Amino acid sequence: MLTAPRTVSPFRNEPIRDFSDPADRRSLEEALVRARAGLGRSYPLVIDGEKVRGAGRFTSINPARPDEVVGVVDEASAAQVSQALDAATAAFARWKTRSAEERAEFLFAAAARIRETKDDWNALLVLEVGKPWIEADADTAEAIDFLEFYAREALRLAHPPPLTPIAGEKNWLTYLPLGVGVVIPPWNFAFAIMAGMTSAAIVTGNAAILKPSSDSAVIAARFVDLMHELGLPPGVLNFVPGDGPTVGEALVTDRRTRFVAFTGSKGVGLRINELAAKTPPGQRWIKRVIAEMGGKDAIVVADDADLDAAVAGVVAAAYGFSGQKCSACSRAIVDAAVYDAFLAKLVPAVEALRVADPSVDGAAVGPVINAKAAEVILGYVEVGKGEGRLLAGGGRAPGAGFFIEPTVIADVAPRARIAQEEIFGPVLAVIRARDFDHALEVANDTEFGLTGALYSASEERLRRAADEFFVGNLYLNRKCTGALVGGQPFGGFNMSGTDSKAGGYDYLLLFTQAKTVSRKVAAEAADDLAAGMD
Ligand code: NAD
Repeated sequence: MLTAPRTVSPFRNEPIRDFSDPADRRSLEEALVRARAGLGRSYPLVIDGEKVRGAGRFTSINPARPDEVVGVVDEASAAQVSQALDAATAAFARWKTRSAEERAEFLFAAAARIRETKDDWNALLVLEVGKPWIEADADTAEAIDFLEFYAREALRLAHPPPLTPIAGEKNWLTYLPLGVGVVIPPWNFAFAIMAGMTSAAIVTGNAAILKPSSDSAVIAARFVDLMHELGLPPGVLNFVPGDGPTVGEALVTDRRTRFVAFTGSKGVGLRINELAAKTPPGQRWIKRVIAEMGGKDAIVVADDADLDAAVAGVVAAAYGFSGQKCSACSRAIVDAAVYDAFLAKLVPAVEALRVADPSVDGAAVGPVINAKAAEVILGYVEVGKGEGRLLAGGGRAPGAGFFIEPTVIADVAPRARIAQEEIFGPVLAVIRARDFDHALEVANDTEFGLTGALYSASEERLRRAADEFFVGNLYLNRKCTGALVGGQPFGGFNMSGTDSKAGGYDYLLLFTQAKTVSRKVAAEAADDLAAGMD
């Protein structure tokens, strides 16, 4: 591992490919063949740098071909959960003494390796979670971005700006790590969110226990392997797969856990928050919970909108990755004056979407993640048929995988269930608004507050949305998905989480605690020190 100081270039986003170039297509096709040849392998736990067999095991399957086993993953026992917490506690004592430069180097090295082997990661995303190719490439690019961005952020935090000078004293501030962190990611950004939360935890000097989602545990195992191949010291990153209610809760409630970094649904986030608030005997801290949760995101289409652009934005945001994004558009709120014209353009655009296995047709809308998700989504479609007018889709799509037709339900009341509850599938509720004021009111009438968008030609309306549309990420005249690290720090309000901003300048602070040191000195010395401190 390199430890020499390096010159760091300004952060730039990793480019995302659209696979229109035949060479790009061929490269991913070849990677898919390689990935298929390696399917079905077994993935043990990693505790203190050692691979260990778990108590049980589960399979991670391809949602487009449920018979295809992507990997067989070991599940931790209660004793192994405890061993991982001990290993992380011991590793933390050593890791926290390493410099920010040393820690950041692991992230830079991981980003470089992933960039070199991008299509192998993309192929795994296509097979393990059913991502269309462009979505897989965006997920991998975002993983690289998080690594590159948080590495730079850790270097920045290691040199905070000087404090206000005080006569007779020298004062300085350092950001200390917290301790042992439990990282619990979702399956939908199987690479980016998993690697982002994990790397934020370790680059700031914490030791992490990664409990992956069981639907995307193979990609998490490969990432943990990569970090160890790069020489990450044992115990700094432990891999402890298992069921949420057993393994997840055992980790969350343990007194050795100092913080939890969670991304997932509202229900699980609230439960983790509640469990983590309890202080078992011997626990010396209040656990910190960073929770990024669900959304019920709206695109508002005003009467002066460019309707073609609005339709393209809604289709991309509602059906990209089958609507399985926290930022997905699940409500289109359309001014009554253009409502019919909007629907007349929307419905054929949705009907033109192809639903297929993305390993064969990379541009198609793929499956949803598993049988249970398909059942829940189809349940909502049935509810929606009673709450509005079905205009497209409405059922399963052909194929052995968990395929669901892109579905449009119009004339939905703002407080209908399908307009209020997160569905997390390819289902769009279209709501008629009386005017622009009403549209904004409907958009904000939700317990969530993650993303939103407005299509309008009016400067005044765009300004009003910037002030009044209560979401963490607002987009004007563009779709409400696809936030980029650095440029569009991501995270929402209210039931969408604890107001954190992944990929932003405030994020790493959540993984640290600041210590101020004040030393009495002669007045002149304090002036000199204040001027010279970095
Ligand atoms: P989920 O809540 O079902 O699971 C998330 C993780 O929590 C998984 O690793 C799971 O194993 C674990 N888990 C489940 N029950 C647990 C428990 N009782 N204790 C501890 N851990 C437990 O969510 P999901 O289906 O994986 O992901 C989809 C959800 O994530 C959607 O609601 C989506 O909006 C949200 N999401 C939010 C963001 C964001 O940035 N706000 C980003 C991506 C996804």
